Amino acid sequence: MPAPPLERRLIILGSTGSIGVQTLEVVRHLNDLHARGQHPVRWRVVGLAAGSNEALAHEQARAFDVPRVALATGSHAQDGKPARGYDLRIGPDEARRLVAEVECDLVMAAIVGSAGLSATLEAVRRGRDVALANKETLVAAGGLVVPEAQRTGAKLLPVDSEHSALWQCLRSDPGAESGPGSPCPPMRASPSVARVILTASGGAFRDERWTKDLLESATVEQALKHPTWTMGRKVTIDSASLANKALEIIEAGWLFGLEPARIGVVVHPQSIVHSLVEYRDGNTLAQCAPPDMRTPILHAMCFPDRPAGLGAPLPRIGTWEFREPDLERFPLLKMGWRVLERADTTLGAIFNAANEAAVETFLAGKVTFGAIPRLVERAVADVPPTPLRSLDDVARAERAARASVMG
Ligand code: MG
Repeated sequence: MPAPPLERRLIILGSTGSIGVQTLEVVRHLNDLHARGQHPVRWRVVGLAAGSNEALAHEQARAFDVPRVALATGSHAQDGKPARGYDLRIGPDEARRLVAEVECDLVMAAIVGSAGLSATLEAVRRGRDVALANKETLVAAGGLVVPEAQRTGAKLLPVDSEHSALWQCLRSDPGAESGPGSPCPPMRASPSVARVILTASGGAFRDERWTKDLLESATVEQALKHPTWTMGRKVTIDSASLANKALEIIEAGWLFGLEPARIGVVVHPQSIVHSLVEYRDGNTLAQCAPPDMRTPILHAMCFPDRPAGLGAPLPRIGTWEFREPDLERFPLLKMGWRVLERADTTLGAIFNAANEAAVETFLAGKVTFGAIPRLVERAVADVPPTPLRSLDDVARAERAARASVMG
């Protein structure tokens, strides 16, 4: 393998969100290691894209000497003003243009929801490697993104902890198909893999004392209390409803070429085992680490190297539990397998957009927690899926799904 270049250029899409902020922590850490002669690569952040948090984006750009910043919304008075010390662009398409116009070696795709789709697809079209933290991209448009990555050779390096785990465990699959060079997604697991098992923390309502009746009226505050992970609001609500695990089933299907029957889910409250791969020869491989997103972020950035990490070491003593997920209390989980059965259609975009809209409505205090699965199921019943051929198909399906939820 050729020696890696000494400098790697990074664009962070979604820099002011939870993953974006932690990515910058990892960059600082790796550059500290580099300065001490303990890591060969120096990382240079060449672009940031954020939604509307202008103050934090500004602070990040100054701290990391970033030449260009894209904001989805902001005050146009400051558009492009050189006095800031960096080129500021404002507009809904600026994240995609940042990727199109600024050369880089890796794009961290961490914009929440389907808003990140066009910029991620732009990176893949240009053959740029993508560290993929935005699962909605594959759920809504895996049928566009994955064939494009196969065509250009762009790698889709998983940042989602479960998929980072599967990626690490699937490197033992001798028959796995992937692009040229290192075994990276998009991959196709070989028949040696009996199935993969995604672990789920179970979210805020995993205890059985949260009966279906109590879940019906659960509040935003209760749903945001995640027992093991500290994450953004959208993914924390998705964890509480297990919609997150449904999205991750679909994501695993696309990243590793797995059909629905070869993807299982188990509830693991400690969030230490991030996923497992069961081989046909009787061996099951698991990847373990304390719940800290900086670990999979660093792995996606540094693969195949394993420099010193940032998280605490794994506790040597403890109990790890595994339980069946409760499909009665968490009906949205089933959508994962159902969508993957029809992966060549817009059903993923419909499901994802309906879930996004239902979560927004819940976070705004307009509906109760119990309404989320009902709103999603209604949209899925209302909007007929069509073949997925373009981003327009995705956008049309998303609009119809949102209208169903809001209507
Ligand atoms: Mg995850």
